[in-house]
Amino acid sequence: TDPAAIRNFSIIAHIDHGKSTLADRMLQITGVVDERKMRAQYLDRMDIERERGITIKSQAVRMPWTARSGPNAGTEFVLNMIDTPGHVDFTYEVSRSLAACEGALLLVDAAQGIEAQTLANLYLAMENDLEIIPVLNKIDLPAAQPERYAEELANLVGGDPDDCFQVSGKTGAGVEELLDAIVTRFRPPVGDADAPARAMIFDSVYDTYRGVVTYVRVIDGELKARDKARMMSTRTDHELLELGVISPEPIKSSAIGVGEVGYLITGVKDVRQSKVGDTVTNARRPAEDALAGYKEAKPMVFSGLYPIDGSDYSNLREALEKLQLNDAALQFEPETSAALGFGFRCGFLGLLHLEIIRERLERESNLDLISTAPNVVYQVTMEDGTEIEVTNPSEFPEGKNESVLEPMVKATILTPSEYVGAIMELCQSRRGNMEGMDYLSPERVELRYTLPMAEIVFDFFDNLKSRTKGYASMDYERSGEQQADLVKVDILLQGERVDAFSAIVHRDHAYAYGVRLAERLKKLIPRQQFEVPIQAAIGSRVIARENIRAMRKDVLAKCYGGDISRKRKLLEKQKEGKKRMKTVGRVDVPQEAFIAALRTD
Ligand code: GDP
Ligand code: MG
Repeated sequence: TDPAAIRNFSIIAHIDHGKSTLADRMLQITGVVDERKMRAQYLDRMDIERERGITIKSQAVRMPWTARSGPNAGTEFVLNMIDTPGHVDFTYEVSRSLAACEGALLLVDAAQGIEAQTLANLYLAMENDLEIIPVLNKIDLPAAQPERYAEELANLVGGDPDDCFQVSGKTGAGVEELLDAIVTRFRPPVGDADAPARAMIFDSVYDTYRGVVTYVRVIDGELKARDKARMMSTRTDHELLELGVISPEPIKSSAIGVGEVGYLITGVKDVRQSKVGDTVTNARRPAEDALAGYKEAKPMVFSGLYPIDGSDYSNLREALEKLQLNDAALQFEPETSAALGFGFRCGFLGLLHLEIIRERLERESNLDLISTAPNVVYQVTMEDGTEIEVTNPSEFPEGKNESVLEPMVKATILTPSEYVGAIMELCQSRRGNMEGMDYLSPERVELRYTLPMAEIVFDFFDNLKSRTKGYASMDYERSGEQQADLVKVDILLQGERVDAFSAIVHRDHAYAYGVRLAERLKKLIPRQQFEVPIQAAIGSRVIARENIRAMRKDVLAKCYGGDISRKRKLLEKQKEGKKRMKTVGRVDVPQEAFIAALRTD
């Protein structure tokens, strides 16, 4: 295809503002998916994406478009659309996709206005020098206020409110006009067709049948089937067994050239040999310089994953290895816990990422798992100068440490102005530092804070939502470290330390934390045949104590011996309850206890 006829673009927006739905309409209007095969969220291929209604992986799809009006009326174009996830955990997916585009549609829900990830995504797009078309979506909603938000959006991106497109991804209104605007407003890709091939890998996915499928955007030259491809960072060569474009199913092609987006199959079995951000070139006529790559996605939240049934350990390992093939951001290494046995310490991009990986492990590999309370990574320098990185709270060194560094984030919170007080109070209680505040309009405020990451990973977001009736939104990025006075709080059941419950907390919050956790565990751990004392301690100093009294009667004692079916039901119920229990020492601890352990109110 002639690069002049290609347009590569992304749809970026805050979560739920309608990217996937608009993508569906475009697939339909351009005719690449016919009416009979159309279903909602067409590009969200994983079950879990469809059920939760969120996009996790970016998707690229090629669509033909003949402009219907304007200066290009009648001309045929090829559009490559990249649908991206909206959640902060997946920002790295978004930035990769953007690097493969010349333009972005910045979508804003016409009933909601600008939200935190609208800003975050806009900034990413600007960093990548993308042309931006502002679009108000969902104008079919009775609550839509397109005039008001067109003003807000125009203030943000510059330009006139009349330049904002008004569309409905649901009804299709305005979508043809938007497609016409894409071909006139976005620039075509430029590259040197005669130069040695250079293609940027923006995704690579493991497929059971085809091995690793690598998604690329060609910058210079051409890749041809049967060529020998070279991955420039690893210097490994692979035969190109197949290449093609996605529209929306894979379509084989003999070559892909400048500006095109497509897939490669080389027969490699490991995604690590086809690294996202790497440059593919031709081994017989290699390019000299690789393209600038991407920042690596670094895990920020860690949690232990343990099989409830110890004999599932090797199944869990296999399942993690399989998932890692598709998700380079997932990290894991074996760990043993006195309480939970053999498992893995896993690193995630954030809590949603953790939750999704856990759910996929349970669902796709049929495992029952316990995950420990999530934590961040600490850099500890001990008195003798040794430096260690702590990813598991139970390994936090006791006694005097020279210094402890905790990771910080820069958070941007957007809120209607009446909630500013409530948000400031929340951030204060989480050791936040206000960096600035701006009114985007008389009713909408942007607050900027630096906060310890540990204070926001667990339930900050839920808290923010409940304090603002769901109206505030937040985005954050990692930003340096700070020294902090942190201690390890341990939990003892029957006098035995339960490593899985250890947590690292600020000294000023340690006492309140210990009391709260002991009280909560008392409620969460069912009575046993014997009395169970619960203690919270810093080192050898006990700071809180509770008691779970012994169970008096057997469950069946309630039945007065009579009704067999009732008896069976009770036994089954008891078994059900056991399913998510883990025996710690002699004590049965339910799964919820591990999760609830860190919730702060
Ligand atoms: P994404 O997270 O940005 O991909 O958003 P989705 O496309 O999944 O849409 C989020 C929700 O908004 C879904 O319930 C959609 O049905 C709904 N939605 C999306 N576009 C429109 C629209 O134009 N009009 C209306 N009324 N609802 C929409
Ligand atoms: Mg989506």
